Amino acid sequence: MSVFGASRGNSEVFSGFMSSYKRVILCKYGEVALKGANKPHFEELMMKDLRERAARIGSFNIYSAQSTVYIEPQGDDDDIDAMLDEAAHTFGFSALTLAAVADKNIDDIKRVTVDYIVPALPAGASFRADAKRADKTFPMKSPEIAASVGEAVLEASPSLRVDLHNPDKNITVEVRERGAYIHGDQIKGAGGMPRGSNGRGILLLSGGIDSPVAGYMMMRRGVGLEAVHFESFPYTSEAAREKVLALAKILTSWCGSMKVHIISVTHIQEELKAHAKEDYFTLLLRRFMMRLSLRVQRFAGSDCLITGESLGQVASQTMQALAVTDEIADVPVFRPLIGMDKEEIVAISRKIGAFETSILPYEDCCTVFTPQHPKTRPSLENVIMQEKRIDVDALTDEAWSTHEIVTVE
Ligand code: ATP
Ligand code: MG
Repeated sequence: MSVFGASRGNSEVFSGFMSSYKRVILCKYGEVALKGANKPHFEELMMKDLRERAARIGSFNIYSAQSTVYIEPQGDDDDIDAMLDEAAHTFGFSALTLAAVADKNIDDIKRVTVDYIVPALPAGASFRADAKRADKTFPMKSPEIAASVGEAVLEASPSLRVDLHNPDKNITVEVRERGAYIHGDQIKGAGGMPRGSNGRGILLLSGGIDSPVAGYMMMRRGVGLEAVHFESFPYTSEAAREKVLALAKILTSWCGSMKVHIISVTHIQEELKAHAKEDYFTLLLRRFMMRLSLRVQRFAGSDCLITGESLGQVASQTMQALAVTDEIADVPVFRPLIGMDKEEIVAISRKIGAFETSILPYEDCCTVFTPQHPKTRPSLENVIMQEKRIDVDALTDEAWSTHEIVTVE
């Protein structure tokens, strides 16, 4: 990378060029750049994700070269800004830029820079120009390209000024294999691992703050998601179900579409209320949720369960309580929020746009018949004794017979 340091005196006259140029989105790899022989596999997944998104917007040519995916609109009215937003929700990329494309000669690079960048700069603004020459056959070196481009910008708009340390606008010229790309600042990519690169999981999705965040964090590591939601109609309302579907919809910005499995636990809760000791109530319900989630997991052919639990957050999330719930599971149960404070979880919830929906008032089946003093250090032995008072298998089968699937796009 080099730094532009031009003086304004002797630059060539630079005006009167046509203002047309093509735009392209450059998507730079995150962790995937570090992959060795497996890199093409991950690149394919990232491009598959982008192509699915692009198909909803217009006609785009998508290809990869030099650890970058290029997205080129094919027609004049393809909405490149909408595509940029989609790319920003595609896992695997660390940074994105909307670049203007120039031919690989310095005159065209200057023309496009002036046409693309100068109109976006207010009078008196400062800038800094940098160049990266990935194509070493290009006759000018990076510092020369940067200086030449900087001069052209100053010539075109003399009120602008160079500031190398704290510029209002960074201008970057990248000379690559197929062309020269001119862009301003990068935007942050979604990061993480490509969609579909790391198995599939069933997210236990309530209407609260934590579980959508847990789902987002696992999706970000490449896990494909389906969700299961337990409702307790008429103790929980239709509005509570709608809220959960709205949260699932927010997650689809990253995963395209999601199946939400809905299961009623009303009768289980009534039986627990009638026959089990009150302080075990929540724990026993959570074990039923596990049994039913495992059925969904097998039904969907998924690999794991995912919950929004965080150590010590509530009585059912102590070490001992989690052990008692986990005892049911024969696949991994991932709890990506286990070591996080609520404040940190809320920050991610806001970032993914779920928070305002999550805090809408609602009833969750977990808040129906909540015990006054839930057991925080349950023993498995006592829990199993409580379960002997009810017909666990019949209740599980009956709840499973209420299984519905809603696909959220
Ligand atoms: P959230 O964790 O979503 O903010 P919460 O903290 O009120 O809600 P808890 O009672 O702490 O929920 O439940 C812990 C976890 O159990 C949730 O993060 C979620 O994964 C799962 N869970 C709770 N209620 C339900 C439900 N009705 N349907 C599906 N999963 C649920
Ligand atoms: Mg919680």
